[in-house]
Amino acid sequence: MEISINGIGVSPGIAIGPALTFGVQTLDIARYEVADRDAELVRFHEALKDARNAIQRLREQTAEQLGDKHAEIFDAHLMILDDPLFREEIENRVRDEGINVEYLVDDFIARMSKAIESVDDTRFRERARDLMDVGTRILGKLLNAPMLCLNRLERPSVIVAHDLSPSDTANLDLTNTLGLATDLSGPTSHTAILARALEIPAVVGLKYVGQHALSGDTIIIDGSQGRVIIRPNEQTLAVMRAKKKQEEEQRSALIRTEVNRSVTQDGHDVPILANIELPVEVAHGLRNRAQGVGLYRTEYLFLNRPSLPSEEEQYEAYCEVAQALKPSPVVLRTLDLGGDKFVSHINYAEELNPQLGWRAIRFCLERPDIFKAQLRAIFRASVLGNVEVMFPLISGVDEFDRVMVVVREVFADLERRSEPFDKNIRIGTMIEVPSAVAVADVLAKRCDFFSIGTNDLIQYSLAVDRVNEKIAHMYEPAHPAVIRMIHHTVSAAKAAGIPCSICGEMAGDPLFTELLVGLGISSLSMSSVAIPMVRAEVASIRLSSAKRFARKVLDMGSGNEIKALMMKRYKTRQSTERLLDPKTDGAPAPQAE
Ligand code: PEP
Ligand code: MG
Repeated sequence: MEISINGIGVSPGIAIGPALTFGVQTLDIARYEVADRDAELVRFHEALKDARNAIQRLREQTAEQLGDKHAEIFDAHLMILDDPLFREEIENRVRDEGINVEYLVDDFIARMSKAIESVDDTRFRERARDLMDVGTRILGKLLNAPMLCLNRLERPSVIVAHDLSPSDTANLDLTNTLGLATDLSGPTSHTAILARALEIPAVVGLKYVGQHALSGDTIIIDGSQGRVIIRPNEQTLAVMRAKKKQEEEQRSALIRTEVNRSVTQDGHDVPILANIELPVEVAHGLRNRAQGVGLYRTEYLFLNRPSLPSEEEQYEAYCEVAQALKPSPVVLRTLDLGGDKFVSHINYAEELNPQLGWRAIRFCLERPDIFKAQLRAIFRASVLGNVEVMFPLISGVDEFDRVMVVVREVFADLERRSEPFDKNIRIGTMIEVPSAVAVADVLAKRCDFFSIGTNDLIQYSLAVDRVNEKIAHMYEPAHPAVIRMIHHTVSAAKAAGIPCSICGEMAGDPLFTELLVGLGISSLSMSSVAIPMVRAEVASIRLSSAKRFARKVLDMGSGNEIKALMMKRYKTRQSTERLLDPKTDGAPAPQAE
């Protein structure tokens, strides 16, 4: 029977295809005594050999498609296979107790994972996941059951999962992933952001999808409406196929438009740039006519691998993006690890509130080895393109000053090494903590630009965890407190003569375009998929009336009322455009104020 579940649409588009449920696979494992212990040991060693071959194949394929850094995760898996503790325990128990090997492997993995997870240290989380991955692979061989691996899907599928980490999402097989549906997560979680960046339709926060969908069920993801339909009937399928075709046609018409600039009706430029996480996304940005990269989330290079990337590897990644975009700007945001992004090879203590904890610039200032290596790579890349750098989660002036001490040390270091770099590289501050908003006037005098990270600014201003689906309804970008903070930040930037852009998800929501332009935002940076819609929206507004509208909103006290007013104006503009379309012959509708 058809089941429809509503969640949070985080990446637009419709996907229709077979579901593939992802999570810890439940394999049916019996315990029995074996008659021939030697034969059982042979079975164990053959399963290990097969698992090793499969992992090595995956390693090679991944290195070929995504580069060596992404393939390194499989080195960690190979190390687990070779771990003497694991091998010896299984061999001894087969010899001494005569128990079947799949039961012993399962028992070992279950005990070890539990022990690892009970340690109060988040770096072990990824280790437990690696161990389970390897265990499932060996069990798959022993039981002749296929192994599900997200970066190598056998056929086009819609991934259904209770939860996907940003690392899982960064690791997806892009050719065969049609869409994503998860029980957990919120609209600005990094998993959601990555799905948007990769242009994969996605709905999160579905709560029960993992319980209802089975692998092989036909499933529809409507990322624009935030709806998932499991086992649709013929009539629903026909309606959704038609809707998918229509959305795709509208989208490609928007992309096809020849305009590269983004200009209001009264000639005001509002450059639109792309947010990227991985160099592969540059192509998405260019296809959607991004005028540069306004936010490069560099930490993604650190995920899905057993060790830190070297300065050289970082340098190459940054050069690749800077050269591809040259002469357009590329704003590299320094490492923002912690929060919802963890890597197994960095020692994080378990935190009660990771979003308020050892995250982003706080982590970098405590780990100057990692921070300086990244800064050297960024500054060296600055001579190959139009590179700018900005720092995440700056909470005040003293913190920014500490960052600048490190920056100057790295400059001196590069000079000593006679490495060329752009000494006038533009240095910016992300404004994403309310305390930074309060002192924006002082910060503005110390840096070259501001970029408002509304995802975090909303989370910290409204005290709403951005990844918690239970309170996702309280995550309100139209809250007057948020609008006023943006206004305050833009005014401080203007007074100091520096530009202020927005790179949070709000920038990619066309509902907010007129308001943000009216507040005086100098550019907008967003997931590439959002660019055509926002560019069309910029082209449909006038700066003069946007300013009047922004003044009106700044006097309002209710988020619901602000939202309703924005929606009304947005709809009016859309119907005006339809009426002006030469294919219709109506007169233009009046623009609401
Ligand atoms: C933000 O917080 O708005 C932002 C752009 O940074 P991130 O989403 O990576 O935290
Ligand atoms: Mg942020």
